[in-house]
Amino acid sequence: MSFDLAARLAARRKEHLYRQRPLLQSPQGPQVVVDGQPLLAFCNNDYLGLANHPQVIEAWRAGASRWGVGGGASHLVIGHSTPHHALEEALADFTGRPRALLFSTGYMANLGVVTALAGQGDTVLQDRLNHASLLDAGLLSGARFNRYLHNDAASLAKRLEKATGNTLVVTDGVFSMDGDLADLPALAREARAKDAWLMVDDAHGFGTLGVNGGGIVEHFGLGLEDVPVLVGTLGKAFGTAGAFVAGSEELIESLIQFARPYIYTTSQPPAQACATLKSLELLRTEHWRREHLNTLIRQFRRGAEQIGLELMDSFTPIQPIMVGDSGRAIRVSQMLRERGLMVTAIRPPTVPAGTARLRVTLSAAHSKAQVQLLLNALDECLHLTGQEPDHA
Ligand SMILES: *Cc1c(COP(=O)(O)O)cnc(C)c1O
Repeated sequence: MSFDLAARLAARRKEHLYRQRPLLQSPQGPQVVVDGQPLLAFCNNDYLGLANHPQVIEAWRAGASRWGVGGGASHLVIGHSTPHHALEEALADFTGRPRALLFSTGYMANLGVVTALAGQGDTVLQDRLNHASLLDAGLLSGARFNRYLHNDAASLAKRLEKATGNTLVVTDGVFSMDGDLADLPALAREARAKDAWLMVDDAHGFGTLGVNGGGIVEHFGLGLEDVPVLVGTLGKAFGTAGAFVAGSEELIESLIQFARPYIYTTSQPPAQACATLKSLELLRTEHWRREHLNTLIRQFRRGAEQIGLELMDSFTPIQPIMVGDSGRAIRVSQMLRERGLMVTAIRPPTVPAGTARLRVTLSAAHSKAQVQLLLNALDECLHLTGQEPDHA
């Protein structure tokens, strides 16, 4: 017997689900070179334009000179160095939580937290549109795992009635494929009423939401009692890499003891933590980045409405345009590319069947003129692919 990979790959191609990796041949930013072609990109998560910022690069360089390039060991052995510790303290201060813990990636942070908190006999309840890393974590935990209707506190309440053991309610802050916000006040109310804990993964909210970039909890003004477990990632608005969990002293100490993806991995390079310390400083102090980003978001939505595109309920930098059919989503994405623009088509299984979309992401590094170019090209390409977009 052998694995019939050729057949699996062929089937995937036939369903228009085949994935390819574009080769980025420039630093991240609005103007990139991909597969030899200069493009104006609207698909990265570098929401504040910090991934290629001179001061962040310099902080990384200086960090490498001072601390070397490798973490060298896991945190519990001898890999927990001064820059990691300083970054954790800065992130605790930023989030207004007693402590924060650094992870190497957001995927690992989510696996680590859910599996450390919940196990057999416990219950994990998740929004059905949560990020894949959260859903994977729920399955891996061995707890009773149930998904409630998207952003629906009543649906959550029903499942909470039947929950056994310790109960963890888990939601994205900003939903990564739709751009909408979790109704955290309502979810927190339901969770607290049943002594469940609410865990929020705010990968896309930190840096973009809240007056100081404090994310969805700042946006709604929610504290530790409402959101005992707060996860952020550093590869998006922070422009670097890694992730953190913020919460109580007991939560962080428990993760250090029990979170296997924290324990059994090498710490991130200390120089990377130095770079993130700088990007955190820029994120907190340079309010103009968020303000400009919000201007672009309003410009895009207004323009898209005028040309009759089907937008989603989002005021975040994630602005998907619903297309429906995977084949058409790919065609539009290819046509945009022929015109020098890069917008990713997102297809199942990343999103539910029949909801393929173009996922536009905006960044403070974009200009108004670039957003207008995008709108013009979308207008042309969506009309050329036959189906008229809905005129609302
Ligand atoms: C990107 C993302 C992650 C994964 O974070 P990485 O650091 O890229 O592994 C987790 N959750 C959400 C909601 C994300 O968007």
